[in-house]
Parts: sequence; C-alpha cells; structure tokens
Amino acid sequence: MCICINCLYINNCSAYSIVQRQHYAPTSKQLNLYMLFTPRAPIINVNIKHNSRVLNVDWDIVECLSFIDNPGSWME
Ligand code: SF4
Repeated sequence: MCICINCLYINNCSAYSIVQRQHYAPTSKQLNLYMLFTPRAPIINVNIKHNSRVLNVDWDIVECLSFIDNPGSWME
C-alpha cells in the first residue's frame, strides 16, 4: 500500500504525482508545477502481475524520508 495516502505532502508532492499518473488517476486538483514538493529518497515498489492475457502494474511508494504522518490526507 502506498504510504502517501497518509502523508502531509500528498497534494503537492512530485513523486506522488508520478505514481498517480501511473495509476491513470486524474488529479482532483490542478497541480502547480512550480510549487511541487521534492521528497527525500522515496522508494517506489512496482508489482507486475500477469494473469492470462492481462498485465497489471501496480506502483506504490513504500518508504520516504520526507514522510510526515497526517492520517486521511488523501481525502483533503
Ligand atoms: S511519503 Fe514522500 S513521496 Fe509520498 S507524498 Fe509524502 S513526501 Fe511525497
């Protein structure tokens, strides 16, 4: 599971915006590219599953030195 959903920076983080794009999830807010926060050492875990003819790729940020716990940040 992506730790970003409970991080204070989720709404202006450059790494999370990349992961979000990989999920084809449109952002609910317009990101200002000049205000993006650059996190320290995010680790992205990519899981690739192949079921018959379907290839699923799942991206999650699993560690990050900039993480600040703020439960429910993804809902704001
Ligand atoms: S955990 Fe790191 S990569 Fe994820 S939103 Fe927070 S600062 Fe960005």
